[in-house]
Amino acid sequence: MIPGARLIILGRQGAGKGTQCVRLSRHYVVPHISTGDMLRAAVREKTELGLMAKQVMDAGGLVGDDIMIGLVRERLARPDAMGRGYILDGFPRTVAQAEALDEITAERPVHVVIDLDVPRDVVLARISARRVCRDCGTNYTATGNERYPWICEVCGGDVMQRDDDTPEAVNRRLDLYETQTAPLIDFYAKQNKLVVVDGVGHPDDVFRRLTAAVDAAKEQRI
Ligand code: ADP
Repeated sequence: MIPGARLIILGRQGAGKGTQCVRLSRHYVVPHISTGDMLRAAVREKTELGLMAKQVMDAGGLVGDDIMIGLVRERLARPDAMGRGYILDGFPRTVAQAEALDEITAERPVHVVIDLDVPRDVVLARISARRVCRDCGTNYTATGNERYPWICEVCGGDVMQRDDDTPEAVNRRLDLYETQTAPLIDFYAKQNKLVVVDGVGHPDDVFRRLTAAVDAAKEQRI
């Protein structure tokens, strides 16, 4: 039986978290829990949460801690996450969220927190070319030659630029990452849970680095 895993992936917008988390989720057979995807689903379904979150997201801001903590607490209580584990992508994003997560996972602590490290100038270039399926969230890279919108190879949905991938919103999100999320790197380093993985290079190479880091960290904790 393939062993599960309890992972947190930190990293700037455009570091490749989404792409790598899908692969990691298949590799360790655990759910990929992306708070950004959860919010975008709420926006599509026009729930109360979705209507509120859309304005914040389009402006490049952060949704309130209490709402996010409630969403994640509920999701982690489901049988798949309780049983095999999970990959958390986009949460925690503030120290308050990290403290709440410590409390939520007190009985089954995370195995490892990965900082997928890609410099700011590299992610800015990646995000301007990023296109995403509106229905299933699959990421694509635009070359400039494609018809608009494209059809998603995975689900047949429309592939477009995200509403919050405008230069202004991207810069605001990257600034918020430095002030709100980068402190989590210290937070988890102090708990001895942090591993920095270089996110520059071919996605297959980055994936190999990630699984090596996760397997080594899990072995240490057994
Ligand atoms: P990105 O990493 O490119 O910002 P995400 O898909 O992770 O993309 O998140 C999109 C948006 O959803 C964020 O800009 C933010 O507004 C909101 N969001 C996602 N996760 C959180 C969180 N943990 N706390 C607050 N806001 C969040």
